Amino acid sequence: MIRIEKSDRLNNLPPYLFKEIDRQKEEVRKQGIDIIDLGVGDPDMPTPPHIIEALKKAASDPANHRYPSYTGMHDFNEAVARWYKRRFNVDLDSAKEVVTLIGSKEGIAHIPLAFINNGDVALVTSPGYPVYDVAVKFAGGQTYFMDLLKQNNFLPDLGAVPKEIAEKAKMMFINYPNNPTSAVATGEFFKDVVSFAEMNNIIVCHDAAYTEMAFDGYKPKSFLETGGAKDVGIEFHSLSKTYNMTGWRIGFAVGRAEIISALGQVKSNIDSGAFQAVQIAGIAALEGDQACVESMNKEYTLRRNILAEGLTDLGLIVEKPRATFYLWIEVPNGYTSAEFTSRLLSKGGIVVTPGNGFGAAGEGYVRMALTVGKERLKEVIERIGSIGF
Ligand SMILES: *Cc1c(COP(=O)(O)O)cnc(C)c1O
Repeated sequence: MIRIEKSDRLNNLPPYLFKEIDRQKEEVRKQGIDIIDLGVGDPDMPTPPHIIEALKKAASDPANHRYPSYTGMHDFNEAVARWYKRRFNVDLDSAKEVVTLIGSKEGIAHIPLAFINNGDVALVTSPGYPVYDVAVKFAGGQTYFMDLLKQNNFLPDLGAVPKEIAEKAKMMFINYPNNPTSAVATGEFFKDVVSFAEMNNIIVCHDAAYTEMAFDGYKPKSFLETGGAKDVGIEFHSLSKTYNMTGWRIGFAVGRAEIISALGQVKSNIDSGAFQAVQIAGIAALEGDQACVESMNKEYTLRRNILAEGLTDLGLIVEKPRATFYLWIEVPNGYTSAEFTSRLLSKGGIVVTPGNGFGAAGEGYVRMALTVGKERLKEVIERIGSIGF
């Protein structure tokens, strides 16, 4: 037997805060308690049938059985550019300003390898999607956390970043509509980001995974709609949440050509692109009837109303989000995020995510995902009502 020693890279990862919840979940399950899982941001509804049909047809074509292009099929990248024009009125050169990803997480995890040297600084929000911080550290960089606070509408206060950090920073990750806070960005905020990036020479990576999941007539903007944005950054996008395709692994990044090509260069040394049949199904998603998106948003609106209104009636503090399928809920007085999470699980069989799992500034909150049906959400309200807090 040889000795197995993990790398510092793995050993130095932030502690896995969900381990304790996983253990408690298992314990509760063993007791035979019916679990309602609002923990994971994975849509519960199926991929629309026309997308599945496109995959089936493309999967049977031997032309799609060979290695794809690293940076995406011409046709997929063109479909992305057309979609950006239609949806955001943003012009993209599909050959230079678009790269296909094996899910946007793949691109987010790889991009620091293109720009971060040992010790370089990247600005990341706290709370935030954990991949940004880990990817920066895997590349040898250091993360400076910008806190997302309620008093700033969960937008980072760029003016609060110390001057020497801002000058040193090479990259910055932002994400609106936001996971986990469900906050949305204003056009003014995006303008501030562009000026801040220009002043400090920072590459902006905007994660736009939730622009299509929005309610009450609200249409989130692309960061690239902002004047000058395409000079300073790129935007990550995903078909995962929009079309219930989390398992398919298809996404893309668009924006400044040199950033996109450097990401493509990293990818060409690591992976061999996304299965062409999945890209063809992705074209069907982007170019097909968008009624499926509308009807999913209608369902999420109803779920949001049931859960947000129910929790508010119980005395919890939560905003009705205009986008994303998350509720960001303040924990009641006297509880930490972990304690409230633990109470909901052990007494009520309800799985939520403690806010501090997304970064220190998420302490004091829990996140609930609208990924179960309306009747189950009513059951959540009943259970919390009866266990109290
Ligand atoms: C779900 C999610 C993604 C998308 O991941 P894929 O790899 O495209 O499935 C990216 N960013 C955030 C913040 C997410 O919540």
